[in-house]
Amino acid sequence: MATCIEWAEERTEECSEWRDEGHNECSAWDDRCCDWWPCSWACKVITWVCVAFVWVSSWVCVAWTVVTTLVCVAWDVVTTVANAILVTLESVLGWVLSAVAFIIELLEAIPILGTLIRWVLNFVTFLIWTIVSLVDAVLGLVGVRPEKLLRVCTVILRDERGAPVATTAYAVDLLQVAVNVFKRDANVRIVPLRPFKYTTGFAGPETVTEDWVSVERGPSDADTLDVPCDAGGAGAEWLLAGSKLQLKMSTNCFYGAWRRVLGYGEPVACFIIRSVPGAFGCALWITDYATVANQTPPTGGGLINRRVLAHEVGHATNLWHLDAASNPTNLMGTPWSSAVPDLTQSRLDWWQVLLVRASKHVSYF
Ligand SMILES: [Zn+2]
Repeated sequence: MATCIEWAEERTEECSEWRDEGHNECSAWDDRCCDWWPCSWACKVITWVCVAFVWVSSWVCVAWTVVTTLVCVAWDVVTTVANAILVTLESVLGWVLSAVAFIIELLEAIPILGTLIRWVLNFVTFLIWTIVSLVDAVLGLVGVRPEKLLRVCTVILRDERGAPVATTAYAVDLLQVAVNVFKRDANVRIVPLRPFKYTTGFAGPETVTEDWVSVERGPSDADTLDVPCDAGGAGAEWLLAGSKLQLKMSTNCFYGAWRRVLGYGEPVACFIIRSVPGAFGCALWITDYATVANQTPPTGGGLINRRVLAHEVGHATNLWHLDAASNPTNLMGTPWSSAVPDLTQSRLDWWQVLLVRASKHVSYF
C-alpha cells in the first residue's frame, strides 16, 4: 500500500483522538457548571459552543487529511508513470552522459585543486536543488509527502592483501535498516544505483539483496581503509585519500557520474572500509560519499551498530547530531548506546524529514 495512504490512516486516527479529547473537555466543563440562573444558562451556551467547535474542527481535520492524501496519491501515480519513461531513457543514455561527466570527475580527483572544485560544485548544486525543492518542502509541511528516491552505491573495499574488509551480508544488513527507516519515516525509497531500476510509491520498502553491494576489484591503501572523521577526515579529503575515494566513486559508481556532476538525485556512495578511528562511520555532508567501518566481529563483545549506514546517509542528506540523552530514539542521537535496539532507535523527527526530502540526494526522478 502506498505510504501516503498508511499515513492518512494514522492522521485520521489522530483526528478522532482530538475529537474524543475535545468531547471530554467539553463535558468536564459542563459538569462544573453553576446551577443558578442566569449563570447556568450562560455556562450551557459555552458547553454548546465547545461541542460545536470540536465537531467542526474534527471534520476539518478529516477533510484536510483526505485532500492531502488525494494530492499525495495523485503525485505517486504521476511519478510512477514518469519514472517508467525516464528510467528507460536514463538506462540507455545515462552511460553517455556519465562518460562526459567522468572527464570532469577526473579533474575532481586532483588533490587540493580537485577537492576545491568538488566542494564548490557540491555547495552550488546544494543551493540550487534546495531552492528547487522549496515548493515540495512547503507541501511536506502541510502533510503532502509523496514518495521520493535516494540512490545508493555500496562498495566494499579490499585490504592491502586483497581480502574484502567486510562480508556482503554485513553491508546488506546495514542497508536494509537504512531502507526501512527512510521509507517508514520520510517516505524516501532507497534504491541501488543501476539501470532499469523501476519504482513506484505503491510498493513497500525495497528488500536489499547481495547485488546491491559490489566488492572492489583491487586492493586499497591504508589511507582509504582507515579514514578518520571530522577534522581528520576533512583533512584527508584534501589530500591523496580524498583523490583516491573520488576515483573509487567515479569507477565503482560510474553510472551515477552525471547525477554527481549536476547534483540532481545525486547518489550517495557508501564505502565499507576497515575502520573509522573513534567512530562507526563518517559522512562529511559536503562529500558525495559516506564511510562505514566493518564491525564483524563486534569489538569488546558489544552489539553491531546496525543503524550506522542509515545514520551516515542522514548526514549526507542534511542532518546533524542530536543529543542522545534528550533524543534517545532519534537516528541522529549520539553517543550511540548499544543497549538499545536499532530500528526503534532510528526515528526521524518531522523537521528532519523535511530536511532529508529537501536534500539534492533525494529526488522524484
Ligand atoms: Zn554521526
